[in-house]
Amino acid sequence: MAHKCPDCDEELRKISLLDQISGAKVNVGIEYTLDEAPVNSMWSGRITNAAGVVHGWLCPRCSRVLLYATTE
Ligand SMILES: [Zn+2]
Repeated sequence: MAHKCPDCDEELRKISLLDQISGAKVNVGIEYTLDEAPVNSMWSGRITNAAGVVHGWLCPRCSRVLLYATTE
């Protein structure tokens, strides 16, 4: 699906969002929950109640980043 920048009307490029908050461990991507606190698996540490994934798109002209949620 093609997205366009609301300011420039330029076609956006899909980007990868990298989460490095957890120190040396690099996780790729952002998940979200709907009105609930995240619940972590006792075994893997992964969030078990994520409602979907957030994807980032970048405008090559003005550098604005837009985020879109999916249920994937
Ligand atoms: Zn733009």
